[in-house]
Amino acid sequence: MKILIASPEVFPFIKTGGLADVTGSLPKALLKLGIDARVILPKHKGIEEQGFKIKYKNMKYSCPMSQGYVEGEIVETEHEGLIAYLVEKDEYFYRDYLYNTPDGDYLDNAERFIFFSKSILEAIKVTGFVPDVLHCNDWETALAPLFLKTLYREDQVLKKVATLFTIHNLGYQGIFWQYDMHLLNIGWEYFTPDYIEFFGNINFLKAGLVFSDIINTVSKKYSLEIQTPEYGQGLDGVLRARKDDLYGIVNGVDYNEWNPENDPYIPVNYSRDTVEKKVKNKLVLQETFNLPVSENIPVIGTISRLADQKGFDIIASSLEDMFSSGVQYIVLGTGERRYHEMLSEIAKKFPRSFGIKIAYDNKLAHLIEAGSDIFLMPSKYEPCGLNQLYSLRYGTVPVVRGVGGLEDTIVDYTRDPIDGTGFKFYEYSAEAMLDAVKRALNTYEDKERWANLVKRCMAEDFSWERSALEYIELYKKAVIKHESR
Ligand code: ADP
Repeated sequence: MKILIASPEVFPFIKTGGLADVTGSLPKALLKLGIDARVILPKHKGIEEQGFKIKYKNMKYSCPMSQGYVEGEIVETEHEGLIAYLVEKDEYFYRDYLYNTPDGDYLDNAERFIFFSKSILEAIKVTGFVPDVLHCNDWETALAPLFLKTLYREDQVLKKVATLFTIHNLGYQGIFWQYDMHLLNIGWEYFTPDYIEFFGNINFLKAGLVFSDIINTVSKKYSLEIQTPEYGQGLDGVLRARKDDLYGIVNGVDYNEWNPENDPYIPVNYSRDTVEKKVKNKLVLQETFNLPVSENIPVIGTISRLADQKGFDIIASSLEDMFSSGVQYIVLGTGERRYHEMLSEIAKKFPRSFGIKIAYDNKLAHLIEAGSDIFLMPSKYEPCGLNQLYSLRYGTVPVVRGVGGLEDTIVDYTRDPIDGTGFKFYEYSAEAMLDAVKRALNTYEDKERWANLVKRCMAEDFSWERSALEYIELYKKAVIKHESR
């Protein structure tokens, strides 16, 4: 079986979030299972800057864009046996950021990702790597299944290609005004509510939902939630219409990257058998954030994009209460400016309890996972979530809101002390979150119970192999569906 995974970002070539982790780890797990999986992404500036060697093989093409044609070239790089095709088009992709500067989205994002989606199909032709399934991820690639069924419909090579579309986050849909229709080179008959029209605009993600053979999201719970108005972000009707083709597969963890036994980024390595050494990381973490250093102060950590989705409004209104119970809280994140300001203000007010670093810092993320006792993730919605899975492996007990992947991957200890792996709350409120934090802290006070809980967390296994096997089943479904159409 041949699979081409298309994504705007793939780790380790380039990463801004969890999407890159998934589209980097899945193909490697597939390779191990004997599947010829490759990836395609734009050749962003950062890829060359990191020193990846780029091979030019004269794979040039041009694709229709509005009134004319735009030229591009497919170049190749590689990492640990994974072949990556890169769409080279410097006017679009040789930039300091992937999607937006701190001041907002790039104004030509529609054009950039229309070109990328067309280039994915051109790449299949020009490289000769014709996949059984083209696996598209998020709105930046969502037009490719539409182009397969319209602009490239008559192409004999592309006709054979089935499609799977994965929704990593329905909160980002790629919505652009209708004046961009000309860039698509398809007829206005597709600008209707049955296709890509969305309240007067073009919705890229919707194209993926309507035109792909099979759809999935990154947890079962989220695949059900998004069929409801509360979580459907305006697309719940479209998703309900395709519910028979909609699946959920929880992301795996790359335990080569996230394993306290041999993590090169943490001061002291530890395992389930030597978990007593974990606390040494806490002391370094406290020192790093200029907080009072003590083994006995419980430390809560959060690593996250600073966005509404992640629950920072209820965090902010709980902090005073939280600090009054004597905990330290550490946040690593970047994102919306208003959260930068809000959290910096709080840090000034509580310098002995609150540590904040506004940055993207992978090394520090590892230290926080290793050094914290508790990991807090009060998301409004969470398609899968990765940090709660990393936390389990690091014996850092997750406190989470029971939505999406958080609901699927964490078992509440209060309800189930035998199998519990964390503390959950459901209502989106500061009170409900504080209640869960307090339950965690009460358990923390009982050293023996806590040690048992930590060990159980560390024994959980969310390796990629399991998820990859589920993806293979979905690829087979996509092929069958494609052949029957
Ligand atoms: P999302 O994809 O919604 O941002 P996930 O939990 O699925 O959330 O994945 C986030 C990924 O990005 C994790 O690997 C996390 O460690 C990483 N991450 C997020 N913010 C930062 C940051 N400021 N510094 C380092 N890593 C971060």
